[in-house]
Amino acid sequence: MTKRERDQLSRHAVEDGGSEPIARRGSGGTTSHYDLIVIGSGQCGNPLADAFHAAGKRVAVVERGAVGGTCINFGCTPTKTMVASAEVAQLARRAGEFGIDAGPVTANMRAIVERKRGIVAASRGSSEKRFNNGIDLLRGTASFTGPRSVRVQLNNGGDRELSAGIIVIDTGLSPALPHVNGIDKVDLIDNVSIMELEQLPEHLLVLGGGYVGLEFAQMFRRFGSKVTIIQRGPQLLQHEDADVADAVAAILREDGIEVLLDTEAREASSTAPGIELTVEAAGAARVLKGTRLLNATGRSPNTAALNLAAAGITADEHGFIPVNENLETAAAGIYAVGDVNGGPAFTHISYDDFRILKANLLDGGHRVTTGRPLPYCVFIDPQLGRIGLSENEARRTGRAYKLAKIQMSSVARAFETGQTRGFMKALVDPDSEEILGAAILSADAGELMSMIEIAMMGKLSYKQLQNGIFAHPTFAESLNTLFMTLEPK
Ligand SMILES: Cc1cc2nc3c(=O)[nH]c(=O)nc-3n(C[C@H](O)[C@H](O)[C@H](O)COP(=O)(O)OP(=O)(O)OC[C@H]3O[C@@H](n4cnc5c(N)ncnc54)[C@H](O)[C@@H]3O)c2cc1C
Repeated sequence: MTKRERDQLSRHAVEDGGSEPIARRGSGGTTSHYDLIVIGSGQCGNPLADAFHAAGKRVAVVERGAVGGTCINFGCTPTKTMVASAEVAQLARRAGEFGIDAGPVTANMRAIVERKRGIVAASRGSSEKRFNNGIDLLRGTASFTGPRSVRVQLNNGGDRELSAGIIVIDTGLSPALPHVNGIDKVDLIDNVSIMELEQLPEHLLVLGGGYVGLEFAQMFRRFGSKVTIIQRGPQLLQHEDADVADAVAAILREDGIEVLLDTEAREASSTAPGIELTVEAAGAARVLKGTRLLNATGRSPNTAALNLAAAGITADEHGFIPVNENLETAAAGIYAVGDVNGGPAFTHISYDDFRILKANLLDGGHRVTTGRPLPYCVFIDPQLGRIGLSENEARRTGRAYKLAKIQMSSVARAFETGQTRGFMKALVDPDSEEILGAAILSADAGELMSMIEIAMMGKLSYKQLQNGIFAHPTFAESLNTLFMTLEPK
């Protein structure tokens, strides 16, 4: 290593606050060797870097964009921050129902976006702190050069060669472009750019009826936009039971959102005031005129830049990286975690991937991905909380179940707080009496669903919730009522 190279390396380590990696000279130049390289500063990679660092290992994280990944910067944190603003707007609009005079409601988009930026910056700031104490951060794009080596194309020019005993790919997803004529020529917005709009769109067209589309649709409706959702399939939230999806569609329509089902977008074009989208439903074409078009049709894996072939890894036909139940790819020592391995695309799943790798790589454990529960929450109002088996899945697999179901209009807490939309249902094993799954469409559904999840973790009989004493009047108390529908106490 020349003195200049040594100086550069140590300057890099100091700049990034990192512990000094071992520098090796190979045929292509200097390679910095680590115990762990994390590609993508996502929801598994960051805590794993911390854990390896705490265990005295040398760690590098390569990130081409914002530290903290999607969740903190463009996903969970900003959306839920803006959903909170939308909920305040809605409550203010309903103030009269509660006997409160609140005057006309308008959304100050600049202030909403500023609030969101502040909360995201604070979250990112705390995520970035880990790089002050010995973990190297390389800001750039990583691609494999061999089974245990990567090249980093630095964002501000130049590149670095790295190698490691363990490499973890945590590169996440990006919005996928739908197959619609002309879509690449219009000013399409996505989950990143929509949250930077400082002017309220007069009419927002939302392409896609999954959870991302629905959260933005209701949010912008509450800010004051006219909103149209265009969904190709026969229901919103295509993986949910039909009664859940129908109730969600009815709620959104009640909120004044136009919901178009079985409707295929065919062509997009720019017009002077905005965008025209030609859609087709039941063989008939219709032109929708909007101000903005949000692409919420799905997300595809960030694997194109990785040069996986050099590591001996082949992505599947959609670009996801196949892994085994230990999250290891076809190449020994290389792991793919979080959204990029094609598993459920949620922060808590990526974070659980961290627990698995920590257990197996640092703590001598044998944890696997199989059999873990999949809770999630859609942050519309009312929320949709989901855990475990759905009725669709039970029917498809021939699994016997008993169904408990109540409307939220029969729940005291919902009635008192004016949040009576939605229902709760739970599937119960007829023999063991254990709860198999639940769908909760209700205020605070994420919390209610988690209570049911805890009961499932503890393998409680539904009768214990039927007869449990919960404080009155809470939403939790409605679990008594829910399970009382199965049979008399
Ligand atoms: C609008 C929206 C709302 C969401 N809301 C929720 C929610 O409420 N709850 C929930 O659980 N989940 C939610 N999600 C999903 C959640 O954000 C993701 O599941 C989570 O962030 C998974 O993270 P990850 O670890 O897979 O990687 P990510 O957080 O996506 O991070 C991947 C990182 O890798 C970087 N990268 C990619 N390629 C390279 C490369 N070659 N070199 C270097 N760096 C690279 C990227 O820049 C990125 O920062 C939401 C997603 C979106 C889009």
